[in-house]
Amino acid sequence: MAYKFATKAIHAGQEADPTTGAVMTPIYQTSTYKQASPGEHKGYEYSRGTNPTRKALEDCLAALENGRFGLAFSSGMAATDTVLRVLKPGDEVVTGDDLYGGSYRIFTKVYEPYGITFKFVNTSDVSVVEEAITEKTKLIWVETPTNPTLKLADIEAIGKVAKAHKVLYVVDNTFASPYLQNPLDLGADIVMHSATKYLNGHSDVVMGALVLNDEELYKQLWFYYNAVGGTPGPQDAFLALRGIKTLHVRMRAHCENGRRVAEFLKDHPKVETIYWPGFTDHPGHEIAKKQMRDFGGMISIVLKDADLQETFRIASRFKVFTLAESLGGVESLVNHPATMTHGSIPKEAREKVGVVDNLLRLSVGIEDADDLIADLQQVLG
Ligand SMILES: *Cc1c(COP(=O)(O)O)cnc(C)c1O
Repeated sequence: MAYKFATKAIHAGQEADPTTGAVMTPIYQTSTYKQASPGEHKGYEYSRGTNPTRKALEDCLAALENGRFGLAFSSGMAATDTVLRVLKPGDEVVTGDDLYGGSYRIFTKVYEPYGITFKFVNTSDVSVVEEAITEKTKLIWVETPTNPTLKLADIEAIGKVAKAHKVLYVVDNTFASPYLQNPLDLGADIVMHSATKYLNGHSDVVMGALVLNDEELYKQLWFYYNAVGGTPGPQDAFLALRGIKTLHVRMRAHCENGRRVAEFLKDHPKVETIYWPGFTDHPGHEIAKKQMRDFGGMISIVLKDADLQETFRIASRFKVFTLAESLGGVESLVNHPATMTHGSIPKEAREKVGVVDNLLRLSVGIEDADDLIADLQQVLG
């Protein structure tokens, strides 16, 4: 029977423990498993490769993304790294020009020296993506909405291009979460998550995930996952499973508060530009409406007449929002991308895509929206 999202978030992959009936999946804090005779075991040999707590999480993630196979990693970057290992020297990758800073860093600083070429293009325009493809292109890597300027890429349209050119197609779904958007349903081959963010949702775990449908590709990725070993421990897997149980409830609250905060900021005299896909004049609004179930709680603002010093002063004055990297937790965070999350991107490259010195990114949490708005009011004046 195909269950709906909330039921899957709470139950998928999580049968009561067969030995005790424990309703919560136990934390299998073990590195190894007894074998009856060499090679005769219950499906678990060594916890770098497989662990029952992690398996429950992987099955839950797969269910939420409408995929067949899930893989959990010790970070979002470990998940990204595992995908990139399918590439060989000489291969090309087409990706967005407005990416998570760590993705940009692993592409340019870790994989480019191995002879892999990355083309950073405007993924909001499908024709630009298609034009960037050559016979050497092996992978399209798309983030939508983008971080931090919340540009939208049409997942389905790029999926058709990827299929026509027989190129592997990955969507980083961290910003939307599976509650708002399911890239596999729209033609992606792999969906990637930093589970650190909305999936876990409580800012107490760093973890990543991949979900996919193709069995051969799953086996290939599982090989790298086990061979390289960026796999998470059972305690973190347990916390992520527990966090995911309220994903749907949290996301509804994030979206509701996101709308309230965005509406407050839209006409504020101190705000020069606001990026939030829920506004009808946001350039990606129509695409967002088509592929997302709601518009989320991520908002970026450019402050009017603020230099770096003034921006820092504003960023340091919040009382309910916390100045910190990361996003997607129950608590509201404010981040200065130019010096924090996107500090590893060269100044010209980031300014070209709008990551200017007076840009602040808000991860709107699920506190009372009145208090969040009052906090913004006291900070902005
Ligand atoms: C945080 C993040 C990542 C990296 O994930 P980690 O869990 O921090 O390793 C990748 N993509 C996006 C969009 C992110 O926000």
